[in-house]
Amino acid sequence: MLSLDGVSVAYRHGATALQGLSLRVDSGEVVAVLGPNGAGKTTMLRAATGLLPLYGARITRGDVLFRGRSIVRRSAKSLVSDGIAQVMEGRRLFKDLTVEENLLTGAATTAGRARRRQLVSDVMREIVPGDIDPQRIAGLLSGGQQQLVAIGRALMAQPALLVLDEPSLGLAPVALTRVREVLKRVVDTGMTMLLVEQDAALALALAQRVYVMQAGTVVFEGTPDELRSSSDLAALYLGGH
Ligand code: ATP
Repeated sequence: MLSLDGVSVAYRHGATALQGLSLRVDSGEVVAVLGPNGAGKTTMLRAATGLLPLYGARITRGDVLFRGRSIVRRSAKSLVSDGIAQVMEGRRLFKDLTVEENLLTGAATTAGRARRRQLVSDVMREIVPGDIDPQRIAGLLSGGQQQLVAIGRALMAQPALLVLDEPSLGLAPVALTRVREVLKRVVDTGMTMLLVEQDAALALALAQRVYVMQAGTVVFEGTPDELRSSSDLAALYLGGH
């Protein structure tokens, strides 16, 4: 469904952040990307979702294909209507809007008020737990609740590919458990997912395939079991799990 083929990315005032990176996500697959800070994971997601220009970066080599078509010159907005939705690092909800209004912003490309209302009630039922009032101001929710609303908002676009940047970031253990349960439920619906995650336990619990990035390129590709049995990488990324 998505492939990055030999992609190099340079920031305007910085060094090359990706160096000939290749990875793919097949339809129905959950792929996790691990790696140390600065490895280029967020840059890789920006390349996959058309957001590089917003950060003064561009693809200098290689190609990014979504459903067989190059998306290198496409806008992030047109990629949302094509079926890529993302949950950005740090949640990025509209803090002054209600939960329901936040969810509705995720369906801006969906025609019809009645259809959007239906989507809100589906997402509230399936993703956002009953203890979150849809009329609550999003900024007043806990970090974990905000993360669930952010996931719900991305699902409002009924994406073909859901992209998540560090959904565990800054969450307390209880909130993390809840986010993990919700993501598992989303995976069980057959959603195709590309997940960048520092929390290797969470990543490996969800993913069928894992990439490890270092210095802008892929240094490992395999199943969670293969990563666990690769002793040097396991020691680096799975310590304590
Ligand atoms: P982290 O886990 O810390 O977010 P990461 O693996 O996501 O790290 P990136 O954020 O993609 O890594 O960063 C990769 C490289 O690109 C780093 O050297 C970083 O300094 C550089 N970089 C990232 N964003 C920018 C930017 N807006 N302008 C210039 N350089 C950037």
